[in-house]
Amino acid sequence: MLILDTGYQADMETIGVTWGFRGRKELEDAGANFVVDEPFEIGEIVLMIGVSACLIGENCTYSGKNNLVLGLKRLYELGEVVCVCPEVMGGLSTPRNPAEIQSVEPLLITTNQQVDVTKEYLEGAKKAMSIFLAHDVKVAIFKIRSPSCGCDGIYDGTFSHKLIDGQGVFAKMCEEHGIKVFMRNK
Ligand code: SF4
Repeated sequence: MLILDTGYQADMETIGVTWGFRGRKELEDAGANFVVDEPFEIGEIVLMIGVSACLIGENCTYSGKNNLVLGLKRLYELGEVVCVCPEVMGGLSTPRNPAEIQSVEPLLITTNQQVDVTKEYLEGAKKAMSIFLAHDVKVAIFKIRSPSCGCDGIYDGTFSHKLIDGQGVFAKMCEEHGIKVFMRNK
């Protein structure tokens, strides 16, 4: 299993998560140092986890709602999670018009009203990253498909719910800083 092999080669400990597409036995057989069934269990292994703020119940999504995951809220209450909303940190309001990535090179993000919000997304990602670095975050759990936090697929820019390969702005920045990102859907 590639990620576990990479961890072994780099002389690093590895954590397998059973909510992905591999089961516990397969992860254990592949040599994972730890296998967890719930996000909060990661907190017992690593020092500080970065989390999308909407996953701990902050009403910061574009529609003014949240994507609460109770296990992550519990971790937050225990002080083992640092949460950020890059879009709000970039100065965008809540609620706000939905936005999607139109192009990666050069980066262009627009709302469904064709307003260019690239600057706000980049600014928010930089601010969120400075918080992660200050807390020495090594692992993050993000909301799937967000143009900021999403990792395994983003919307194609047509606001028609069509998915394409790609990462959100902040998720990409995390990867560039060596932060391992796990996705969480609701
Ligand atoms: Fe949640 Fe991230 Fe979107 Fe903020 S930017 S609402 S934290 S997914």
